[in-house]
Amino acid sequence: MFLRSAGLTGRRLLSNQTQARRMMSQGSLSGKVAIVTASTDGIGLAAARSLAQRGASVMVSSRKEENVERAVKQLRSENLSVSGTVCNVGDAEHRDCLVTATVQQFGGVDILVSNAAVNPFFGHMLDCGEDAWDKIMDINVKTAFFLTKLVVPHMEKRGGGSIVFIASIAGYQPFTGLGPYSVSKTALLGLTKALTPELSPYNIRVNCVAPGLIKTRFSSAIWKNEDVAEEFLKQQSIKRLGVPEDVGGVVAFLCSSDAAFITGETIPVAGGMNCRL
Ligand code: NAP
Repeated sequence: MFLRSAGLTGRRLLSNQTQARRMMSQGSLSGKVAIVTASTDGIGLAAARSLAQRGASVMVSSRKEENVERAVKQLRSENLSVSGTVCNVGDAEHRDCLVTATVQQFGGVDILVSNAAVNPFFGHMLDCGEDAWDKIMDINVKTAFFLTKLVVPHMEKRGGGSIVFIASIAGYQPFTGLGPYSVSKTALLGLTKALTPELSPYNIRVNCVAPGLIKTRFSSAIWKNEDVAEEFLKQQSIKRLGVPEDVGGVVAFLCSSDAAFITGETIPVAGGMNCRL
């Protein structure tokens, strides 16, 4: 009755089934091939799982073979299509092998999630030496660019693709004691913007995700310290710690056709923590 009065006749209405099918095919990543770096734990593992759950074939990777084997075994036990290879993103040969292995295994590359990061320094920024700066910028920023450079020709062959960088809320508002790390994450926001117009003509979208405090090994020094964790929660609207799955789903969304008109953006996933208007 309500539908008729709203002018929505039966013919104009999609059946529930058709709507559901359409929604599924929009969000689906069936037939797509994804590379996720640093994906044997935490946010990377959650992103790999989310992409695979939507139908993508995913190449997981990290530095340690036993971690790769464990993650592949876990995801395969969930009936997900994954393969794995060792890749320390700081090693150019490893990056080459990662892309080559993915193409050999799955026939191409449609999605890159660049997730690896390090933070070898905590303290006053002026005390940070050149070695630590180099490591932070190399792993957190440069490898994201060089991996992009490697996958673009493969994405072009497929008629397009999607790239997602994992930055941090610290990229907007530097964290005390984490100056160089924060600057590296700000650089990823810039890299996203700089690459977007160059890659759009190839139908390649570039986006970025800025997680807040997510409960992982990487951030354990923060969330295991009750006082510090409390400070974070005070700044959030959603009063709980984030979990890797909070980020994984957003990554998969950005890689799907649901996000077909989104490029050059950074999406904070931070429980409403203030970072920008
Ligand atoms: P995590 O749970 O500690 O996982 C780190 C993963 O990275 C592991 O799989 C590790 O495996 C791998 N890894 C470390 N160094 C690597 C390298 N050089 N090359 C390849 N793989 C490497 O960390 P996470 O918290 O999920 O962090 C993932 C990303 O999210 C990072 O970019 C981080 O900056 C960002 N982030 C995290 C938070 C947070 O609160 N957790 C907040 C904002 C942003 P191996 O040891 O086997 O290499």
